[in-house]
Amino acid sequence: MTIVINMRDGLDWRKIRVSGRLILEGKLVAFPTETVYGLGADALNEEAVRRIFEAKGRPADNPLIVHIADFNDLKKLAREIPREARLLAERFWPGPLTLVLPKRDEVPLVTTGGLDTVAVRMPAHEIALALIRSSTPIAAPSANISGKPSPTLAEHVIDDFYGRIEAIIDGGETKVGVESTVIDLSSEKPTLLRPGGLPLEEIEKIIGPVEVHPAVRGKAVDLAKAPGMKYKHYSPNAQVVVVEGPRERVREKIRELIKEYRSKGYRVGVMATEEFEADEFFYLGKTLEEVAKNLFKALRELDKKNVDIIIAEGVEERGLGLAVMNRLRKASGYRIVRA
Ligand code: AMP
Ligand code: MG
Repeated sequence: MTIVINMRDGLDWRKIRVSGRLILEGKLVAFPTETVYGLGADALNEEAVRRIFEAKGRPADNPLIVHIADFNDLKKLAREIPREARLLAERFWPGPLTLVLPKRDEVPLVTTGGLDTVAVRMPAHEIALALIRSSTPIAAPSANISGKPSPTLAEHVIDDFYGRIEAIIDGGETKVGVESTVIDLSSEKPTLLRPGGLPLEEIEKIIGPVEVHPAVRGKAVDLAKAPGMKYKHYSPNAQVVVVEGPRERVREKIRELIKEYRSKGYRVGVMATEEFEADEFFYLGKTLEEVAKNLFKALRELDKKNVDIIIAEGVEERGLGLAVMNRLRKASGYRIVRA
């Protein structure tokens, strides 16, 4: 049985208390954050955290992010808090930034995918913060079946988990649309492990140059650091093809590909920042912010329309574009067409 808790009109403390109690009882509660919906459980309760992995079908070595509502909670989770962590937290929390730090023994290895580091963030969403305050630090990966596009609407969570978790809090559409930026501060040099809702440029303004893990731009590699990177991700049932290159040439190439695939009898969907004639079309918006916000919804909606192929327009890799391209390339299984 899943209860869907409507909070689209804003925070409701009575409903929050009910949801917080479920978390404290070891139950699974999906909730909105500013990035995407999370599938939450008590981060320090091994049994509860194990259920997240089961429900998602998530490999046990893909670590979860622990969500906190108060900077003091970080001290209960991380063994060391370096200067960079304080600076970044002060500037960007609550917000779409996750910090990887050496973990305390109290944090179960189930939560960290067996690593001796813990990933922590403070979400910028009043429902998420209230839920944490009414319970405990909450471990939460994106609330999608492993390998599927992340959820940006409660409907997406309902599609994936109705009947399989205790509660889903509906807080409407998420604002950012891509997951948090993950920075590893547990080793010598700050390293970007996953681009996300906070642009790397913003982070570098505060702590200087950040190394970019090779898996961020290129193909997935085998990693001990961020095992999450090696798994299939964000994939709808349709085959995604990403078209990259100078804008004009990309448009031309998309038109060519639509013709080519349709002549072979495929149903073709296109997601782009300007209109195309195809079997199905999803307008992503003009700015990189809009594209990020609409990205996962576009993949899910085109999939529902039973297209065989989704052609996605590539965007510039600056600001939120780095996160957008990282998600699109993974969604395509690295089927990239250069225009
Ligand atoms: P999700 O919330 O589903 O986007 O997954 C969380 C992601 O955060 C993982 O796939 C990793 O990329 C990253 N992450 C979480 N914990 C750690 C950690 N201890 N070390 C490195 N990366 C982490
Ligand atoms: Mg995820």
